[in-house]
Amino acid sequence: MTVEFRADLHCHSFYSDGTDSPEALIQLAIEKKLTGLSITDHDTISAYPEAIQIAGRFNLPLIVGVEFSSNFRCEPVHILGYSFDLKSQEIARLCEKHKKRRQERNNSILKKLKALGISSELFSLENIEGTIGRPHIAKFLMEIGIVQTIQEAFERYLGEGKPAFDPGEPISVEETIETIHQAKGVAILAHPHLLKRSITTRELLKMPFDGLEGYYARFGPAREKKWVDIARTKGWLITGGSDYHGATKPHSLLGSSWVGEKTFECLYHRFKQANLFA
Ligand code: AMP
Ligand code: ZN
Ligand code: FE
Ligand code: FE
Repeated sequence: MTVEFRADLHCHSFYSDGTDSPEALIQLAIEKKLTGLSITDHDTISAYPEAIQIAGRFNLPLIVGVEFSSNFRCEPVHILGYSFDLKSQEIARLCEKHKKRRQERNNSILKKLKALGISSELFSLENIEGTIGRPHIAKFLMEIGIVQTIQEAFERYLGEGKPAFDPGEPISVEETIETIHQAKGVAILAHPHLLKRSITTRELLKMPFDGLEGYYARFGPAREKKWVDIARTKGWLITGGSDYHGATKPHSLLGSSWVGEKTFECLYHRFKQANLFA
């Protein structure tokens, strides 16, 4: 019997706002009979190279990945990078820039919460090595009984335009794509299905991306078709993944979106090349 090739190219570990360790993600991928994986933490590559060693032990093909936060005309845009040189100084510099941006932004969010009468004295920055994001603050608000769910924390306080929202210093799409390219990686427009303004989408599609994430999380073939068609017309790569976050987003299951062997092999080959002489 032939095994169907399914590689999930979008998930988060506890190095950003997921709840699983890289090892737990790799074990789960094997349980789900996935044949390839990429861990794409927000603005950090801290899961690597540890994840590569673990995947080797479990015999699961893994490619390096990251999901960078960026901004286009005040709209948040996520950009996936794959198959880059893990030792790239440009990637390290951008991760460091994001770390600083987040420290400042998170402090501003905590200040706004304080002004609303919610003390953040007990909020611990326990995720020292990784990225601290709004989901960590949402979890804290749940733990101190201000909200019942993470969703409620976003709806009442942390979501765009809500009273404790702060977007932080914007980092441009152009800078992000250029950084990934300098590191010999591919830059992919993440979940275009979620973009709010059609003008943003139009402008983004003119930028030097190498592909877009056509297969994403809970969107079925009807919602995916538009993006798959656009990517095909442009000759772009079409990637896909579940955006699994563990307990942070329990409705997103690992392996719920994936790519087939041809796309995975193309990225795997590039990943090996980019890291050959690094
Ligand atoms: P940050 O990168 O710190 O601004 O946080 C953004 C992350 O928060 C996203 O990548 C999602 O994982 C999560 N997120 C955004 N909006 C919501 C929401 N309404 N409910 C739950 N999680 C959300
Ligand atoms: Zn996330
Ligand atoms: Fe995203
Ligand atoms: Fe994501």
